[in-house]
Amino acid sequence: MAAYDYDLFVIGAGSGGVRAARLASELGQRVGIAEEYRIGGTCVIRGCVPKKLLVYGSRYGAEIEDARGFGWTCDGVRFDWSTLIHNVHREVDRLNGAYTRTLENADVDRFLTRATIEDPHTVKLVDRDEPISAKYILVATGSHPAMPEVPGKEHLISSNECFQLEALPDSIVIIGAGYIGMEFATIFAGLGVAVTVLYRGDQVLRGFDIDLRDGVADAMRDRGVDLRMDCNVASIEKEGSGYRVMLKEGGSVPATLVMAATGRLPNTRGLGLQRAGVALGWNGHVVVDDFSKSSVDNIYAVGDVTDRMNLTPVAIREGTAFVQTVFEGQPTAVDYTFVPTAVFSEPEIGTVGLTEEHAREMYRAIDIYKSSFRPMRATISGRDEKMLMKLVVDAETGKVLGCHLLGSDAAEIAQMAAIALKLDVTKAQLDGTMALHPSIAEEFVTMRQKWEHPAPIKGSDAAA
Ligand SMILES: Cc1cc2nc3c(=O)[nH]c(=O)nc-3n(C[C@H](O)[C@H](O)[C@H](O)COP(=O)(O)OP(=O)(O)OC[C@H]3O[C@@H](n4cnc5c(N)ncnc54)[C@H](O)[C@@H]3O)c2cc1C
Repeated sequence: MAAYDYDLFVIGAGSGGVRAARLASELGQRVGIAEEYRIGGTCVIRGCVPKKLLVYGSRYGAEIEDARGFGWTCDGVRFDWSTLIHNVHREVDRLNGAYTRTLENADVDRFLTRATIEDPHTVKLVDRDEPISAKYILVATGSHPAMPEVPGKEHLISSNECFQLEALPDSIVIIGAGYIGMEFATIFAGLGVAVTVLYRGDQVLRGFDIDLRDGVADAMRDRGVDLRMDCNVASIEKEGSGYRVMLKEGGSVPATLVMAATGRLPNTRGLGLQRAGVALGWNGHVVVDDFSKSSVDNIYAVGDVTDRMNLTPVAIREGTAFVQTVFEGQPTAVDYTFVPTAVFSEPEIGTVGLTEEHAREMYRAIDIYKSSFRPMRATISGRDEKMLMKLVVDAETGKVLGCHLLGSDAAEIAQMAAIALKLDVTKAQLDGTMALHPSIAEEFVTMRQKWEHPAPIKGSDAAA
């Protein structure tokens, strides 16, 4: 008789948990997984996927406007939120089914309930008296929106509720200007909602390259988004059928809805981790080593709950590396260099590698190549649109350290640039690559002029 009910019990059926459960089961391990909400996790149910669909939906208004310059007549154009959100839900349901079938086909036992940890080898399910024993436990519980501690916080919604709105608000205040705040500002503004973004720092998108931050802020202001920096929320008060956001600096902003996009916190509360001896970090994340092992030998953690790099592909890669390490006898550490990332704002951001600021801290001398131009499409659409491309290069070796884009298809271009950077591409090799004409991406292989740094970088992270 087996010593444990399962070789592996996974808590959380999101990006990291589903991948690890499936791979371990396919290797012949007995695997169980618990999910307290919906199989698929944040990315599929209330993150990347539904968000990107809403971004697509929000872009059509401007595209229809642009079409006029190309000879199209677009009269009587109307938008219906209930159609969009209904179709998004239908796609989310389809993916939820696909993830469930993946687990079924891999013979993973599924428990649709909350799980907690009793001791290093015992899991307790909320809807079951019998505890479950497991040789290994994988914590893949993800994260949740962190709500600011301000009077009236009960009036706030988070990104979770944005996917459940029955009607679009006339106006919204978004507190926070990280990538989720900027993406929802784009979505709502594109759908005709009056958007105000309040942020306590001095520039949006802390952590991204400063040229992208400045560029996206200018462009979003041009598109009518009211971005207010150095703004601290004092309280949120109910006013009529909406709310009023009071500012510490004085003044207030009325809105139909108020959304907090003020970061996310790891899902570890009440999980029993400390009882089992698992060390937690400053914000409650599970502290792990390079192989995702916690302070307890048989308990591992992957994904957002470890607060390393909170992105879906990273959670998936960590889940894969966990299985290779524990069940395939190949200790595998995830390589976090050159992870491409995007902000699906309007204009869009795509980025990979070091920002200019980081590169200047880490390298003796760097060269910057920058190009800002009007994309061909904008010449006829009449839209005042700029594309920005920037390369950060190690002056001594010529190695490209960072690649940053703002504008159409930035995310798609950044994914391809990531391959080159991962292969240690040099600026000379980019220059030696034939351009694909006419395209936006060709600018990457035709940037010849070094950019001289005229002044200290403004809006630095340290000041934010
Ligand atoms: C609005 C939004 C947009 C995003 N956009 C992007 C993007 O464009 N690109 C990108 O790469 N990343 C994006 N992300 C981040 C991405 O969604 C996460 O990094 C990723 O989902 C993390 O995967 P995970 O496996 O760690 O956790 P999750 O996918 O969150 O899965 C954790 C699961 O565990 C379950 N759970 C928690 N506690 C328990 C318990 N005690 N018992 C049972 N089940 C439990 C949860 O219900 C959840 O389903 C976005 C996130 C948000 C919120």
